[in-house]
Amino acid sequence: MKYQQLAEFYNEASSTTKRLEKTAILAKFLKNLDEKDRDVLYLLLGDIYPEYDERKIGISNQLAIKAISKAIGVDEKTVVHEWKEIGDLGKVAEKLTAKKKQATLHRHVLTTEKVLENLRKLPELEGKGTVGKKLALITELLTSAPPLEALYLVRTIIGDLRIGLKESTIRDAMAVAFFSDPEKENLKKIQDAIDKSNDLAAVFDIVRDGKISELEKIHLQVGKPVKVMLAQKAENIHEAFETVGKPCAIEYKYDGFRLVIHKKGNQITLFTRRLENVTKQFPEVIDYTKKYVKGDSFILDSEAVGFDRKTKEYRPFQEISQRIRRKYDIEKLQEELPVEINVFDILYYEGKSLLNEPFEKRTALIKNVISGHPYKIIHAKQIITSDEKKAGEFYKKALRDRQEGVMFKNLKKEYQPGSRVGHMLKVKPETRDLDLVITGAEYGTGKRHGWLSSFILSCKDEKTGKFLEIGKMGTGIKEKSTEESKIGISFKELTEKLKPYIIEEKGKSVKIKPKIVISVNYQEIQHSPNYNSGFALRFPRFTALRPDKSPSDASTLEDVKKDFKSQKRSWRYG
Ligand code: ATP
Repeated sequence: MKYQQLAEFYNEASSTTKRLEKTAILAKFLKNLDEKDRDVLYLLLGDIYPEYDERKIGISNQLAIKAISKAIGVDEKTVVHEWKEIGDLGKVAEKLTAKKKQATLHRHVLTTEKVLENLRKLPELEGKGTVGKKLALITELLTSAPPLEALYLVRTIIGDLRIGLKESTIRDAMAVAFFSDPEKENLKKIQDAIDKSNDLAAVFDIVRDGKISELEKIHLQVGKPVKVMLAQKAENIHEAFETVGKPCAIEYKYDGFRLVIHKKGNQITLFTRRLENVTKQFPEVIDYTKKYVKGDSFILDSEAVGFDRKTKEYRPFQEISQRIRRKYDIEKLQEELPVEINVFDILYYEGKSLLNEPFEKRTALIKNVISGHPYKIIHAKQIITSDEKKAGEFYKKALRDRQEGVMFKNLKKEYQPGSRVGHMLKVKPETRDLDLVITGAEYGTGKRHGWLSSFILSCKDEKTGKFLEIGKMGTGIKEKSTEESKIGISFKELTEKLKPYIIEEKGKSVKIKPKIVISVNYQEIQHSPNYNSGFALRFPRFTALRPDKSPSDASTLEDVKKDFKSQKRSWRYG
């Protein structure tokens, strides 16, 4: 299809903030979408491939500035100047393209196929001359683009589409477009298919034929990442039992990071909860899986926890978090920061999906297939009980073992990928800690000159998907760069991480695309008119980078409200 049609749709969709209106606009668009244009579904969220695919566009603002300058024939300084004024590179491209004299235009009509073709070449490029080749691919598109198309092309390229579409809007719009009666049940079936496949176009292929029952044919595939099931929170053991029922399984809630292990024949692949492939980073896990887990094909859900080789004590998450990202010195890191794999669920075994099997069956199977080797791979520590006293003792034991708390699991329930379910509950001591997204910052002065030094933190508004500010943070970050394998982060390192995501600069202040998630500790939450969340953190302090979490996994406004209420309760009784 013509890229112009897509740009016009983007424009219409961004003209309203009302969810129902957006859904209706999208439903109309999807209804008219030709079968052969199914890959446009990826472009709707600013992607070029399905969510499970690791190939992303990954173009920096700097390169986009170069491309705009080259395609439109203005110097880079002009582009940067306009960017500082307008604060949106897409709008800059739109404005400058509109100014360009008609006579100089040699336009071909852009199609979505051509846009996808060029953008899909970007992640494949490696080695010498990459920057020049990338520049050429983007410039070729921009040269053919009239103003509105230039706006959305640039926004797509820098990963900041700003049309307010979410996966859930696409789900709702599919139901509105293709089912006369978009009941809740249908929505759930579409969502389940998305969560299992992480491929919007694959789901669209089925939905557009109006055959909802066919959605069940979308299965897990070993080797393709799947969204994990998440837990809700219970205030205490009593409440947890009331919700999940008796007897139930209680397990350690390990303080590590989620690791999903896929095995198909000799091929083992490891994914984080944000569907990132981290196989290369954990060679020992491949080894343990091959040696100590029976079976030719399976998907295991687990928590990787760090421990001290000498004392055998568990180590907190922040001490091992660097293993997730680091792609060099892997052997050294593996030696210094070993992990133990605690398997707590199994989603697939020997050709069969186990998602609909009750937890008691799945957990029994784990016992059968894993020969436990402590400090390598084990079945997560678990008791099955109805006894609150025993549960209390197990909880204390988990805390003594330096873990976060315990998980309560209903024995009869299924595994729901991607959902935060009420049949798996976490119980942990009040921690005063949140996972927040950095959405802005200020450049420092004096010895922090040139570095971002004060960071705006935001939580997620689940209803709108927007990020709401909740405070500013400058503590907990080191002045000097950390040595290898040491914990923490310096101003310089954090600045380097954030720089590619700067979307607007005004004086010393910058706006940052919500990409980087960090764990933050605080003393108190207060009501505040200064931030659009309505709350402010007192004395927030950086504790860890969360490379394993995506912005959509950040703490929500609801979490903040709950913590606000529970702090008041503990003051009253504490
Ligand atoms: P928190 O910040 O409290 O860790 P979270 O947002 O990381 O929560 P939750 O769904 O709230 O995620 O808590 C579940 C997480 O706990 C899982 O994602 C997993 O990484 C971890 N976990 C540790 N031990 C277990 C276990 N035995 N069963 C399930 N999840 C576990």
